[in-house]
Amino acid sequence: MSLTPTHPVPIPHGRVFAGIRATSDQHIGNYLGAINNFVDLQERFDCIYSVVDLHSLTTLTDTDALADNVHETALILLAAGIDPARTILYVQSHVPEISELHLLLSMVVPNGWLMRVPTFKEKAREQPDNVNYGLVGYPVLQTADIVMYKATHVPIGKDQLPHLELAREIVRRFNQHFGQTFPEPQPELTNAPLILGLDGQRKMSKSLDNHIPIAASDQDTAKRIRSAVTDPQRARRTDPGRPDVCNVYSLHEFFDPEKRPWIYEQCTTAGIGCVDCKGLLSDAVNDRFRSLRARRDELAAKPDDVRAILADGADRAQAIAKDVLLEVQQRMGLPPQR
Ligand code: SF4
Repeated sequence: MSLTPTHPVPIPHGRVFAGIRATSDQHIGNYLGAINNFVDLQERFDCIYSVVDLHSLTTLTDTDALADNVHETALILLAAGIDPARTILYVQSHVPEISELHLLLSMVVPNGWLMRVPTFKEKAREQPDNVNYGLVGYPVLQTADIVMYKATHVPIGKDQLPHLELAREIVRRFNQHFGQTFPEPQPELTNAPLILGLDGQRKMSKSLDNHIPIAASDQDTAKRIRSAVTDPQRARRTDPGRPDVCNVYSLHEFFDPEKRPWIYEQCTTAGIGCVDCKGLLSDAVNDRFRSLRARRDELAAKPDDVRAILADGADRAQAIAKDVLLEVQQRMGLPPQR
């Protein structure tokens, strides 16, 4: 069934949506893989960024800290260069229309699509005592986040393409049933590098405690980098090292690429030791984030200003969301509201 809405919301020209999970420790993997890119996209797109607190509830851990984590994530995004004058930055739960759209979209999504999602199976293995509906419906909520604003582009790395494809399938199915409503969101592929953690084995992640927080002090950054795994065969300072198997060397690429040839030569000839090499990396990381950390601290001292920015973002997001939700309700045949 497709009903004609009274005021269909036009599809915008070039609108980006991205959701950022709330965490107390946004780390350099998040920065290099996503946040940096979100800042750049503001030059080319109308951007809407959401701190997705509802998504965090699926694991039911850290809920006591959730509000603080949302605030901290907003601090980092603003300090990194998200400009609230031109970009909408808001908190997911502050726009309740998303939850209703999630419910309405759930009516067109076959269960089998959701049960097959690899991340659902992975989470179900990780938390067998709490395989909740939110985990199953996660991709539907993600789709609601995107289509709530008729976003045309979603910035993702190649590894996330299957997630976006599921959102696109949901959009196609909705449009087939109820008429052309949403654009199929396109991937805005980022050159998101795979940032390994300090263990040199797995993707950098706070939950694996192998991360370097963006907002850490210079001293804490140096301390964490000192713990990084290097070339396991380099047992003594006088042994030549193998930069090609060393994650510290990989990280230099992102923070001081011009020094890499020199480090390569010094490492392979035992000219420098790993302690020196890590010290250089710490200095480069601290230099890169010095101004961001200062801006973050300034914002942290003015929590009411940050809350006002998020409230304004929620108002602007909600103004769009209300119209889109009304269109969806009408297309699905729900009776007019009182
Ligand atoms: Fe890695 Fe640097 Fe040590 Fe070489 S000197 S093994 S690149 S940390």
